[in-house]
Amino acid sequence: MEKELKYEIFGWTDEIHDCDFCGKSELKSVAIMKNIETGEILYFGCDCARKATGISTSEIKKEAKNKQKILNKERFNLAKNELMQTTEYIEKYNAIEYVDKYFRHSIKERLIYLKPFLIKYAEKKAEIESKYNVEYL
Ligand SMILES: [Zn+2]
Repeated sequence: MEKELKYEIFGWTDEIHDCDFCGKSELKSVAIMKNIETGEILYFGCDCARKATGISTSEIKKEAKNKQKILNKERFNLAKNELMQTTEYIEKYNAIEYVDKYFRHSIKERLIYLKPFLIKYAEKKAEIESKYNVEYL
């Protein structure tokens, strides 16, 4: 009979150093595990993650990396959507349309006109990047 798994691999992190499974500390990195029944997020050292899932460490790392990639992408998309709905984004977009129409030949005029919009936009962008913990929106 196949053993029913209680934990799902959710990611891998080097920001946590304690194992919730055996209590070991000062680990270099840990697997992020989700308890399938309760949804609780736990951190397991690689030996304990292997024991808890029956999957080899290299497979765990591979799966964790894939999971992380998907989660990062979801977070990035959420952040991008939020940014695109801000006043700062819309005003910057309109300002660029405006200079394309009226200051087509003067780079200097374009820059002078756009600067305040670009500054406000950059601030908003940095705020959302830090909120979602993403880069290069
Ligand atoms: Zn452990």
